Amino acid sequence: MSIHFINRIKEACDLHPGKTAIVSGSESVTCSELWRISEQLACYMEENTPEGKPVIVYGSKSPYMLISFLACSKAGRAYCPIDASLPASRLQDIIEMIESPAVVATEEFPLPANVIMTKSMLSEMAHTGAGLSSPEASISSDSWVSGDDTVYIIFTSGSTGRPKGVEISSDNLCNFVSWVGSLFPEDLPILNQAAFSFDLSVMDIYAALTLGRTLCCMDKTLQQDIAAAVRFIKAKDIGYIVSTPSFVNTLLSEPSFCADNVAGLKGFRFCGERLTEQTASKLLVRFPEASIVNTYGPTESTVCVTGVSVTREMLESEDGISIGAAKPGTTVTFDNGEIIISGDTVGKGYYKDPERTKESFFINEAGERSYRTGDLGYEKGGLLYFKGRADSQIKLNGYRIELQDIEANLCELEGVKEAVVLCKKSGDAVRYLTAVVVPADHERELLETSGALHVSREIKRRLSERLPSYMIPKRILFIERMPLNGNSKIDRRKLEGLI
Ligand code: AMP
Repeated sequence: MSIHFINRIKEACDLHPGKTAIVSGSESVTCSELWRISEQLACYMEENTPEGKPVIVYGSKSPYMLISFLACSKAGRAYCPIDASLPASRLQDIIEMIESPAVVATEEFPLPANVIMTKSMLSEMAHTGAGLSSPEASISSDSWVSGDDTVYIIFTSGSTGRPKGVEISSDNLCNFVSWVGSLFPEDLPILNQAAFSFDLSVMDIYAALTLGRTLCCMDKTLQQDIAAAVRFIKAKDIGYIVSTPSFVNTLLSEPSFCADNVAGLKGFRFCGERLTEQTASKLLVRFPEASIVNTYGPTESTVCVTGVSVTREMLESEDGISIGAAKPGTTVTFDNGEIIISGDTVGKGYYKDPERTKESFFINEAGERSYRTGDLGYEKGGLLYFKGRADSQIKLNGYRIELQDIEANLCELEGVKEAVVLCKKSGDAVRYLTAVVVPADHERELLETSGALHVSREIKRRLSERLPSYMIPKRILFIERMPLNGNSKIDRRKLEGLI
């Protein structure tokens, strides 16, 4: 049995009460504040939210987001993190799925909803005890999420055009946390790059909180200004970067991102997409002493389940960069080349979606929960290797996208009769997306009068009301009808020749 993750956080908070636990922009909280405010909010939640129902925690990178996650866990409520950049209609889909959940909104919530707590209410509660029946609010550990209770639900792209919610249990998280700490051996600040609504952030959040390290959150604006991002890493004396390889690739375009300038940086912890030999070898030149760990896994199995230290020898080997070996508690097997993950971090399934859950999750012969990843791979010399996908799920700049999700949303737009989304690649990496669209008859006229550029801009604008910006195709190509192959299916290969 793994130690409960909340006990680990408590121990870290007791040990370093005055240490900065989380810093984000101009906001920061100490370990003791993290513990105390989350106790208060947990008590408030016990009284003001229905038991057994997930709570939406909405916002960007405020420390109050993480305080709220911990409060939900202490109150025995599953939390569902939603980033404030999510378009309202996608948010509406999630609200409908959860059926009018309580919402903790650290930023203005864009839809009518049962908002039980805002950032200013939270701050007032922390300072004056406002809203609490007892100012000494503390919650019994009997109330904490435990065992197979859902600890969080993370929504990810779904092939039907609606997001799907991956349900992770308290035990899954405890088991993940008991392993992930070993990837951060030194007491150094940890960088958070991923939005809290992506499961990659679970790695940095829980490593930092359970080990008593400072979590330094980098917001989106900073991430778009590479020189400023490097200055931030230096100023905060970041020791570990947890990110997708894509993010570090952008940092590498800045010459000041090197060991001479960013001396505190000791390690890179990657997950979420292929780590290319180019990125790893550039890093080894810029940071010769740093440790690089490549981890692999899907949201469905709590962030990652394999890991390996990337060495110079590995870069030169025939098979290239491995994704490593399975962590304790996990077994990786193959079914016709598809990676199957079994073990103690495989989640409960998709929220309120037994059918899709049944397609991908099952109990193996050893009685362990198992997940069909859709990833292709193989094992050699005790190490695992990733070979690509068996379906149309892709990674673009580290973001997981089902191409059918974009296609379904495009087809729901007025004026679009049929749509196929394709990847423009360089090597294995996706550079951008192109949508091939057959316009509805009445749209053809508009195309003739206003031109393709105008119509494609309009389609992108309307699509961005439904999908996150990273899912919007860069190019839209109009054709009269879809080419068909011998099986009367859309000939994607032919379309690929057009882009
Ligand atoms: P997500 O659920 O967003 O973490 O995406 C999971 C998917 O990302 C996996 O199923 C893989 O397709 C891909 N992925 C994750 N880690 C790696 C890695 N180290 N190398 C290659 N692909 C990866």
